Amino acid sequence: MIVHRDTIFALSTPPGRGGIAVFRISGPAAGDALAALSGAGLPPPRQACLVELRRPGDGTPIDRGLVLWFPGPASFTGEDLGELQLHGGRAVVAATAGALAALPGLRVAEPGEFTRRAFDNQKLDLAEVEGLADLINAETEAQRRVALSQLDGALSRVIEGWRRRLIEIAARLEAWIDFPEDDLPTGLDEEVALQLADLRAEMEPYLASDRRGERLRDGLTVTILGAPNVGKSSLLNAIARRDVAIVSDRAGTTRDVIEVHLDLGGYPLTLADTAGLRAEAAEGGDEIEVEGVARARGRAETADLRLVVFDAVLDLAMQEATTDLVAADSLVVFNKVDLAPPPEPTAFETNAVFAVSAKTGTGLEALLDALAARAEALLGLAGAAPLLTRLRHREALADCLAGLGRAEHAALPELRAEDLRLALRALGRITGRIDVEELLDVVFREFCIGK
Ligand code: GDP
Repeated sequence: MIVHRDTIFALSTPPGRGGIAVFRISGPAAGDALAALSGAGLPPPRQACLVELRRPGDGTPIDRGLVLWFPGPASFTGEDLGELQLHGGRAVVAATAGALAALPGLRVAEPGEFTRRAFDNQKLDLAEVEGLADLINAETEAQRRVALSQLDGALSRVIEGWRRRLIEIAARLEAWIDFPEDDLPTGLDEEVALQLADLRAEMEPYLASDRRGERLRDGLTVTILGAPNVGKSSLLNAIARRDVAIVSDRAGTTRDVIEVHLDLGGYPLTLADTAGLRAEAAEGGDEIEVEGVARARGRAETADLRLVVFDAVLDLAMQEATTDLVAADSLVVFNKVDLAPPPEPTAFETNAVFAVSAKTGTGLEALLDALAARAEALLGLAGAAPLLTRLRHREALADCLAGLGRAEHAALPELRAEDLRLALRALGRITGRIDVEELLDVVFREFCIGK
């Protein structure tokens, strides 16, 4: 446990006007601070008390509000922690912040510092901290569910379970190396290899899960591709005006990439309109358009899904460049069906084809339903096993698996032990537990070596 001397405080609710504003105060002087502002003793732990808050010193009233007292270690940060729930006015907030700052030993918290202290005091591990950040940022139902379960330790429990097993294996191996004359079961080496193979088999599916967790955090990216004037931006706008579509329009010129963030059935999607992929633009002409086309291509390559838009009015034979963009998993859209019927569906046998009008709204529901279904397929939580939600997790697990793989085939027990240590350290990076001392504890506890 790391003891922090400073007592920190911050407004925990967003700044600005609101029904209430909540201040948190954490650290050794938190209790004194609450008492100084409320002019009374501390309230009973974990019970809201309505008090008159006054400026310490001259006793000027600040506001009437609720005071809560969470003595450490049973608090969010693990330290003594106080909470003030006040009326959410700017002047109230300013007066309170001023009064707190004037108290000895108190200072304004840095961003993330409460959570940092919770981590330092082992209230949350790294994966749980990330779950908390994701929960605060969650915009859709599926994001919320995954973030909450990560905050609750679902991923950490899986990682810790693996880590325990690996520690046991490594400890036995190290004991065997250090004290081979001891009365250890023979054939330990083969047994270790088997246990390692089991562990690896359990870990591998987590890496093979399509980056589901990361995609869910970031939102599925869907690009709208097609020639100029087929109605890509009209389509994007028409979708953005639907009830399903929320969130922000990010700025950009029509030649750049414009994004709309959607919540489809609880899954986050980022729909991007790209500049028309036009051959002649790439060959010369306007520099901005060239740049726009380059971005569009980059975007199309990295997108999770592609909507390729054709103009129903034009002959399909004239839209060859667009036809070339259609990949096996693209959604094919014929726009402007208010003006002309779409061509025979035989043109794209393996693709899902949609006839829409961005102008009248025809066919948009079906298109959105299809997008929601794709999102569900790509991001769905069917298995409900905890997801790796960050690249960081994936890299650490990949490092761990590489270590285990090397250990299984190591020529010498000493090399194997070293590979296992590396694997353990990699796994520990996910939750922030990388203590090798534990290994020694297990060696001594389980084998009673040296008595
Ligand atoms: P983009 O260059 O692919 O983004 O195409 P725009 O969205 O700018 O549309 C090009 C032109 O087609 C505009 O004049 C739109 O009003 C028109 N347009 C787009 N969608 C439709 C549609 O569904 N029906 C009709 N009648 N016109 C459309």
